[in-house]
Amino acid sequence: MTEPTFRIEPHATPVDAGTRAGMLVDPGFGRVFTDHMVVINYKEGMGWHDARVQARAPIQMDPASSVLHYAQEIFEGMKAYRTEDGGAALFRADANAARFARSAERMAMPPLPEPLFLESVRQLVAADRDWIPGQEGGALYLRPFMFASEVFLGVKPSSEYLYMVIGSAVGAYFKSGTPTVSLWVSADYTRAAPGGTGSAKCGGNYAASLLAQSEAIRHGCDQVVFLDAVERRWVEELGGMNLFFVFDDGSMITPPLRGTILPGITRDSILTLARDMGITVREERYAIDQWRADATSGRLREAFACGTAAVVTPIGTVRGADGDFRVGDGATPGELTLKLRTALVDIQRGLAPDRHGWVEKLL
Ligand SMILES: *Cc1c(COP(=O)(O)O)cnc(C)c1O
Repeated sequence: MTEPTFRIEPHATPVDAGTRAGMLVDPGFGRVFTDHMVVINYKEGMGWHDARVQARAPIQMDPASSVLHYAQEIFEGMKAYRTEDGGAALFRADANAARFARSAERMAMPPLPEPLFLESVRQLVAADRDWIPGQEGGALYLRPFMFASEVFLGVKPSSEYLYMVIGSAVGAYFKSGTPTVSLWVSADYTRAAPGGTGSAKCGGNYAASLLAQSEAIRHGCDQVVFLDAVERRWVEELGGMNLFFVFDDGSMITPPLRGTILPGITRDSILTLARDMGITVREERYAIDQWRADATSGRLREAFACGTAAVVTPIGTVRGADGDFRVGDGATPGELTLKLRTALVDIQRGLAPDRHGWVEKLL
């Protein structure tokens, strides 16, 4: 397929406007789905073919489809935002396309050409534009993903894949303002090791993080924070969000990527926005003991997690085998944390100038 051309097969009985309006009032996260989905097939020798937008529906799979056994699967997470003028916009979708291709390579999958990825996302937003919530913090969450669909139990890269995009109307991740979250430092489990798949957005990384996340919940914490797998000392990231630290001299640190951390697009955007503000940001390792010492001494002023789903989330308390400590007063979001969040959200919503060419207007 040279030109990304899509066959459009509109839903024969889409959700009616009244029902949809009800579903969009308080959609939560990841439960309210749109009318359509994108599907593209891949087969060795044929390449990518049969791109289409069709009614969202269950898919039939053979029980021997290799993804069900060997987990060759990757995904992306991005949002279409409602702009002030009533239109819609994508934020750095080209970065998602590039990361999807890199994830594919790591998992021995054929990369989807980036123009095809971008067009698939635009096509779904065009088909389901009425599903973008209008309220503050709402967005159409887009989930492109692909998986091994060859019917074969031998262990090898699949010769067939299915690429799909589904859309889900989401509300503000946190209902009331920006509460701080509590983190559990996992001593028993790691997320990613050197040479592993930590920098690929694959479902397997999430499967591997769930037990640690359950442990966090059991200890009364919201999220797990992972340390590096070699020295069990350097702070890496949460199960699905990157980390930043803000110091009393106004400088910031975020852990360096080095292959074990997922290269977040929000992380990269925050790095850029902070530097635009004249803030010194270093990509530098930060040890858990140092975090505790700095939080206790007051040298550390703020800490936050970031990612597409929850945007920027202030960290209030950290709990681990060595006891608890607080960041700031443990409850009030940091000043710079909120400033960076607003700067980012305003660009996404078209309320602030788009100096870096991050926003693509649609419709
Ligand atoms: C997706 C993801 C992030 C955040 O990436 P964004 O592009 O900012 O949404 C961070 N960590 C992990 C493990 C992820 O899967």
